[in-house]
Amino acid sequence: MAWQASELEQFPALTWEQIAPQASVATRSALERVLETQDGACLTDEERHALANCDGPNCNGADLFALLVAADTLRRDLVGNIVTYVVNRNINFTNICFVGCKFCAFSRGPRQADTYFHSLEDMGRKAKEAWDVGATEVCIQGGLPRDLPPFYYRDILRAVKKAVPGMHIHAFSPMEIVYGVELTGMTLRDYLMMLRDNGLDTLPGTAAEILDDEVRHVLSRNKVSVAQWQEVIRTAHACGIPSTSTIMYGHCETPDHWVRQLSLYRQIQSETGGFTEFVPLGFVHQNTLLFQQGLARTGPTLNEHLKIHALARILLAGSIRNVQVSWVKLNRKLSQLCLQAGANDYGGTLMEENISREAGATAGEYTSPEDFQAMILEIGRIPAERNTKYSRLQIKLPVEAPSPEASLEIASESTLAPEFA
Ligand code: SF4
Repeated sequence: MAWQASELEQFPALTWEQIAPQASVATRSALERVLETQDGACLTDEERHALANCDGPNCNGADLFALLVAADTLRRDLVGNIVTYVVNRNINFTNICFVGCKFCAFSRGPRQADTYFHSLEDMGRKAKEAWDVGATEVCIQGGLPRDLPPFYYRDILRAVKKAVPGMHIHAFSPMEIVYGVELTGMTLRDYLMMLRDNGLDTLPGTAAEILDDEVRHVLSRNKVSVAQWQEVIRTAHACGIPSTSTIMYGHCETPDHWVRQLSLYRQIQSETGGFTEFVPLGFVHQNTLLFQQGLARTGPTLNEHLKIHALARILLAGSIRNVQVSWVKLNRKLSQLCLQAGANDYGGTLMEENISREAGATAGEYTSPEDFQAMILEIGRIPAERNTKYSRLQIKLPVEAPSPEASLEIASESTLAPEFA
C-alpha cells in the first residue's frame, strides 16, 4: 500500500509491525536499531540526515509514517504513557528591546506607544498571584532595554523570592545572561553564580533558534553567536543550573540544521547532564519582518511539526529524556498529534503568554491544568503535573473521573545528572 501525505494524521492508528515492512530498507534498518538499543547513538551521521529528510521527493511514502510510529513506540518504551505539564506563569517583564531579531514580533523600540516595563514590585506581586493559584514555577524573560540597571536581573530574582520563597524561578535566556555580564563587567561564571545564589533555579535554553552562525546572521545580526550560546549553557550547567534545550524551526533552515543541533545537544548532555528537556518551537510567521522581507517560509508544515518531534525522540534517545510540545505555537489537535509522535510533555500552563501571540499564534495565553488533563486523556495517556526538573510527578485526573490513582505521587527518573537534583 502506498502512503499519501494527506493520510498523515492517521499515523497514530498504525503499529510498528504494520508500517515497518512498507518502509525503505535503510529507514527500517536504522529505526529498528534505535528501537532495539533505545539509544540514538547507534545511528551514523548519514542515517541521521536521511531520517531528517525521510519525506523528500525521492523517498518511499511510508518512511515518514515509519519515523513517527517508531518515535511513539520508543517514547512508550523510554518514558511510558504519562504526559506531564507544569503549572507556571510566564512573565515577560518588558517588551522594550534593542536587539532587533527579525523573527520577533514582540519587541518594541523605547519610543513606541505600547511599551511596558514591570517594576520589581509588579514581579513579586505576579509571582505571589501565581503561587496562590497553584503555580510552582515562574518563567521570566523579556526584551533587552538599553541602560538596564546593571544588577536588574539579580534584583528580579530577589523580588520574586522575597514575595514567594518556594517559587521555582526559570529565567533569563543566554542572550539576557550575556547582556547581564556586559552590564556588570563580571565574568560569566561569577555572574551565573551570583544569579544562582540569589534564586535562579533553571535557565531557559532559548535564544538558540538555529545554532548555525550563517542562519543566525539572517535571523538577527545582534544575537549571541553559537559559541557564546554554548558557553553560557555549559557554564550554567557547571554552576549547577540546569537548562532546557530548544530549536526554532519552519523559517529558513533545513532538516540538516536540525540534525546538527540535536547532535550538539547530545554532545553537551554527555558532558554536563544538565538538560531537562528538548523543546521544538515552531516559527510563527505572520507579523514578523523575517517573513515580510521574503526571508522565511510561512512557518512549519504538518510534516515538519510531526517530523521534528519524532526525530528528536529518535536522535536524543539515551540522552535527553523529555521532548516537549510548545502548545502556544500549535493548535489543540496538532499538539496532540505531536504527543503521539514522540513527545511526552505539554510544557507550562503559562497564564500569560505574549511572544507567540504577538507573532500571530492563536492557541491562546493560558491552558488550565484541567484542559491539559482533558487533552491528554483524549489521546489515551495519563496526565501528571510535574515540577520544573521532572523530579516530582503527580498523576492528575479530572474531578469528574475519580480514580484511586487521582493523587498518586510517583518517583520519576531524570536524565539530569545527580548534582542538579
Ligand atoms: S527575540 Fe528577544 S532579543 Fe530578539 S528582538 Fe525579541 S525580545 Fe529582543
